[in-house]
Amino acid sequence: MSPIVIIGSGLAGYSLAREIRKRDGTVPLTLVTADGGEVYAKPNLSNALAQRRDPGQLASETAEQVALRLNATILTHTRITAIDRAGKRLLSDGGEIPYGRLVLALGADPIPHGLGGDGTDRVHAVNDLDDYARFRAALVGKKRVAIIGGGLIGCEFANDLVATGHTVEVVQYGPWPLDRLVPEQVGLALASGLAQRGVVWHFGRSAKNIELAGEGVTLALDDGHRVEADLVLSAIGLRSRTAMAEAAGLAVNRGIVVDRQLRSSDPDIHAMGDCAEVEGLVLPFVQPLLAQARTLAAVLAGEEAAIVYPAMPVVVKTPASPLVVAPPPMGTAGSWQIEATDKGLIARYLDSESNLLGFALGGGETGQRLQFAQQLPAMLA
Ligand SMILES: Cc1cc2nc3c(=O)[nH]c(=O)nc-3n(C[C@H](O)[C@H](O)[C@H](O)COP(=O)(O)OP(=O)(O)OC[C@H]3O[C@@H](n4cnc5c(N)ncnc54)[C@H](O)[C@@H]3O)c2cc1C
Repeated sequence: MSPIVIIGSGLAGYSLAREIRKRDGTVPLTLVTADGGEVYAKPNLSNALAQRRDPGQLASETAEQVALRLNATILTHTRITAIDRAGKRLLSDGGEIPYGRLVLALGADPIPHGLGGDGTDRVHAVNDLDDYARFRAALVGKKRVAIIGGGLIGCEFANDLVATGHTVEVVQYGPWPLDRLVPEQVGLALASGLAQRGVVWHFGRSAKNIELAGEGVTLALDDGHRVEADLVLSAIGLRSRTAMAEAAGLAVNRGIVVDRQLRSSDPDIHAMGDCAEVEGLVLPFVQPLLAQARTLAAVLAGEEAAIVYPAMPVVVKTPASPLVVAPPPMGTAGSWQIEATDKGLIARYLDSESNLLGFALGGGETGQRLQFAQQLPAMLA
């Protein structure tokens, strides 16, 4: 079998390597990564403060340990700069790397915050272990954190930071947290749960400017309001890393376009994880990439396989206000029906024939997530 090269050592790259080795112990396998190649679960980055876990404790294995375990070559701190498809080689800051079959598991970049002012170096985005280490170091001795963005990651960090004694203000462009995923009543219940722990919300606002102010910073909002903080966390979303694939002439849309075999517009190049768009879906979560890893390992072994996605609810890591969401597919017609129970909230997204297309469960109702998930249609059948 021709050698397989995977770019990326995140959950996508390492999950695929593991699945390949379950089938084949000898096919030459190389992973190349711009970072240190440590194994870590990225979802832990937004709840590690309350668990008192430092960056070192979040990494469960070194690249050397994985290389040994998986009989693979792992090139760390090596950034690929271009894909030469005609020559079947990668150009990197450490030289050229030939490939037979190539897998792009490049992840996603935080969307730039676009703030003006002289305080921009106090703005953090946490998207990998190194970012987290920098954020943790910057937090030492600091109390006030402003978070820009009230989506999943912003809410989870807000919960984690208030749980460790920080004061937190969240600037959220939408009218309630997770406004693209849950209806108003559910979003406001989440906001209220976090507010009871001390989170201050600024809904319908965006941050424009950040200026140094003594030891801290002043964040200016679009309505003239000013938020004083020691540091700022930007959590306004992620964008698939597509630039290198696009420069190599691969089809790219919101992510690197792949079919149900995770194959790009070049049959020798596959993509998976946060950088990939599978049949129009960019799903930057763990469950989809695990399904992709199983399918792609089979495809690379020459087996017949095609990705299927069951319904995949996401547990929001906000213990102050527990929440599970399974938003309806974008653009599907229907409406939210909300039931307040003595335990929490049940929001059902129903079509005109009362079929369940999505849901959100809040408070004590989150325990029902499996029963609800079983009623949802598959995301990709
Ligand atoms: C704070 C946070 C909390 C989250 N919580 C959850 C959760 O609770 N549940 C859930 O399902 N999902 C969660 N997610 C999303 C989930 O963690 C991601 O979907 C998943 O980790 C993405 O893995 P990946 O391997 O595709 O990307 P990444 O982990 O970003 O890996 C990308 C890899 O590509 C490498 N790379 C990129 N470009 C190059 C290059 N040019 N040359 C060499 N190497 C390169 C990087 O070094 C890295 O090794 C969370 C995400 C964040 C940020």
